[in-house]
Amino acid sequence: MTHRHVDLFIVGGGINGAGIAADAAGRGLSVALCEMNDLANATSSSSSKLIHGGLRYLEHYEFRLVREALSEREVLLKNAPHLVTPMRFQMPHRPHLRPAWLIRLGLFLYDHIGKREMLPGSKGVKYGADSPLKQDISHGFEYSDCWVDDARLVVANAMSAREHGALIMTRTRCESAKRENGVWVIDVVHTETGESQRFTADGMVNAAGPWVSSFIESKLERKAPYSIRMIKGSHIVVPKLFEQSNSFIMQNADKRIVFAIPYRDQYTLIGTTDEEYRGDPKDVAISDAETDYILDVANQHFKTQLSKQDIVWTYSGVRPLLNDESSNASAVTRDYTLHVEDDHGKAPLLSIFGGKITTYRQLALSAMKDLKEYYPNMGKEWTHAHPLPGGDMSNDHQAFAQKLLQEFPFLTQAQAKRFTGSYGTQTYVLLGEATSVNDLGECFGQDLYQKEVDYLIEHEWARTAEDILWRRSKLGLEFTTEQCARLESYLKSELANEEILISEQIA
Ligand SMILES: Cc1cc2nc3c(=O)[nH]c(=O)nc-3n(C[C@H](O)[C@H](O)[C@H](O)COP(=O)(O)OP(=O)(O)OC[C@H]3O[C@@H](n4cnc5c(N)ncnc54)[C@H](O)[C@@H]3O)c2cc1C
Repeated sequence: MTHRHVDLFIVGGGINGAGIAADAAGRGLSVALCEMNDLANATSSSSSKLIHGGLRYLEHYEFRLVREALSEREVLLKNAPHLVTPMRFQMPHRPHLRPAWLIRLGLFLYDHIGKREMLPGSKGVKYGADSPLKQDISHGFEYSDCWVDDARLVVANAMSAREHGALIMTRTRCESAKRENGVWVIDVVHTETGESQRFTADGMVNAAGPWVSSFIESKLERKAPYSIRMIKGSHIVVPKLFEQSNSFIMQNADKRIVFAIPYRDQYTLIGTTDEEYRGDPKDVAISDAETDYILDVANQHFKTQLSKQDIVWTYSGVRPLLNDESSNASAVTRDYTLHVEDDHGKAPLLSIFGGKITTYRQLALSAMKDLKEYYPNMGKEWTHAHPLPGGDMSNDHQAFAQKLLQEFPFLTQAQAKRFTGSYGTQTYVLLGEATSVNDLGECFGQDLYQKEVDYLIEHEWARTAEDILWRRSKLGLEFTTEQCARLESYLKSELANEEILISEQIA
């Protein structure tokens, strides 16, 4: 069994694990992260994909969270302009909602309690005959938040961590960890090869998301300091429901919120739900009741009526929220809590309870603050003004796509647009010296060529067709079963060749 020592060992390759890995590595700590599946395979690819202050959290007086999240929108717009884009949200006003003056007051607060330089403020809107909404909905409100490619934000953070020297291990499960002589002794196993590895670390972070408590209990064999409440949320994807580029936020009579968000040109993404969940987080799936609920809210608002037959894709995730004893699933706090414990001032374990994609960077800053006493020589905070890989561009996507088309005239418009919003300036690494479509190699379907697949294997830890079609991209929405099978077989042969090469180099 191989053995290596690091300053900080992180369990979990969702947004929080990847965000902390990037922050810590950038401060000069030696970092290793293990993820038992693919990066972002769990909650961090199942979100509503919003970088938002959370308008409705104001109703629960979560001012700290809302302020932090609102300010974070602008930081992420600057640091990841390829993955985070401004979005306007319209809230149709209906009789069961709060009075218009109170909503205006809420939006005034929303406009002003967090830092806002780039995003426009809120305003009222009127709906005419051309509105996609039902005729009885005559007016509403409009405000700003942002949209994010959640899974790719995780990958970008893992890449940033790697750029700063971190070791990122996917398909690697932490099997056990114990304290010995003031350090952590951590055993991990590769889930495909069964190969074991031992690490020692001066400190450890438990960023296992919905598994945070079960990890402490089963792998560390101790009692978790807090319990988490698993709240399932599901989304459906349907063919484009409206032409406008803004999203809609619909508050139902039960006070729950459902978003309808333009998704990848041809679709609309609708969700989410709030349902208590008690199973294994990896088995989470939409229920009939959730599907009916989402369809019902959409059908109450839009002229175009939807049925189950319109659904092209669904996904579900579990929010790992801190159990604050709320009786209502929607009211459980979305804020995060960090818990640190150590052994006589050594070998800290920092566990993360709760959180949002939006506040991941702030969460990482807080984690570093809590760990500072154990690593007095760590560097200063640096992530507030440092683009993530691919993010050293302006947020004018059209201009960047145009530039790509000029430099690589063999790309299609759709490809240039997709590359802009997925890879940003990393597109140059992906395309390398390519000068014609022939240089892109085999086409696996849609506009996915060998060149991109090879880039994803080499630079973004992709190993399966699912990694590529559902997390590095969403091309799975358009791929046929045959195309998926061909891609899978290409990946298998490429990865087998890679392993032969590595074993030859070792021999
Ligand atoms: C339906 C829904 C909608 C949401 N919408 C939004 C939104 O619009 N905006 C927003 O800001 N937030 C949103 N959130 C919240 C956000 O998605 C989560 O807070 C965030 O993704 C949690 O990230 P995480 O890294 O803590 O957990 P995860 O992403 O779940 O990552 C934990 C990782 O740990 C790994 N792991 C567990 N045990 C082990 C082990 N023993 N060894 C190795 N690896 C292990 C898992 O495989 C997993 O990948 C939403 C959440 C849900 C469910």
